[in-house]
Amino acid sequence: MGGVDLRALGEFGLIEAIRRRARVDRRVWRLGIGDDAAVLRTRPHEELVFSTDALVEDVHFRWRTTDARSLGDKSLAVNLSDLGAMGARALGCLLTLGVPEDVEAARLDGFVAGLLRLARTSHCPLVGGDTVRAPLWLISISVVGAVARGRALLRSGARVGDRIFVTGEFGGAAAGLARLDAPGAATPSERRLIRRQLRPRPPLGVGVALARARLAHAAIDVSDGLAQDLGQIARECGVAARVAVERVPLAAGLERAAARLGLDPAVLALSGGEDYELLFAAPRGGLSAEVYTRRLGCRVTEIGAFARGSGVHFSREGRAYTLAAAGFAHFKPAPRASDK
Ligand code: ADP
Ligand code: MG
Repeated sequence: MGGVDLRALGEFGLIEAIRRRARVDRRVWRLGIGDDAAVLRTRPHEELVFSTDALVEDVHFRWRTTDARSLGDKSLAVNLSDLGAMGARALGCLLTLGVPEDVEAARLDGFVAGLLRLARTSHCPLVGGDTVRAPLWLISISVVGAVARGRALLRSGARVGDRIFVTGEFGGAAAGLARLDAPGAATPSERRLIRRQLRPRPPLGVGVALARARLAHAAIDVSDGLAQDLGQIARECGVAARVAVERVPLAAGLERAAARLGLDPAVLALSGGEDYELLFAAPRGGLSAEVYTRRLGCRVTEIGAFARGSGVHFSREGRAYTLAAAGFAHFKPAPRASDK
């Protein structure tokens, strides 16, 4: 794409530049970018899964604290996370891109490079989209995936007595975000937290493996905070979730970073968003966390269980624990001073 001005390049020039760089597997897609629509070859015994997620400048990201490549990568990663949480493997994606007409060529180039790189490594080709002029950057990505018929991991399958498992570790992305806004140079350990915020790495194969082996009753990717997303499962399933806070795995370096930022690591781990780990419910007599960890090739921790009732209930060392802040939601009323 070089150093070309979008006003000179134009909408079609930009689309053509993207098209040249996008690689599509013809065995999966009969048509990719270039016609009125992309054409997917479907297979019997499979169901298709669709999801979409948007990122808006100054709502989801700020150019002051992110680089274009990371943004391209993250825009697709958060969508792949949704597919993974359904137990689906990715087939392809569509990109709606709104950019200001005086957009920096290097920014555009970096964004497309970051997105297409992850598209390649995750076998999720870019097969179409739309390109528009906008006052701020707007990135909307839609993904399509496939899962064996009847095997999709829903939010609604958890039962009383099921155990609650999570992959990976929590609080890192939220601490990274807070660190991005703090002054001074970040330590190497803080830079790893920042990287979790800018370049989330959802455990994409885990949902697929769980669905294939019928190991989970329900699953969700944790994007809006553990407390909130677990609450979604509890609500959908008509059960209560009980979680032992001391069992929730904290991101490496979280406690030290939180102390420097004046934040509570437990609140970051339970309410902070964007960790993109997978949470799943599995039957009582099923595998242990150690066996999951070995079989899935990814750290898995048991943090609690579902019980009769409703809501999410935390305990810490056996005592009831009240969480100070809920997770992320758009359009929620601004917090009052007395909430702080
Ligand atoms: P139409 O006017 O029919 O909507 P467009 O000119 O917008 O067609 O798009 C032409 C082709 O380029 C289509 O295949 C469309 O999916 C693709 N396309 C447009 N914008 C993008 C983009 N940002 N990323 C990938 N493909 C795109
Ligand atoms: Mg169009």
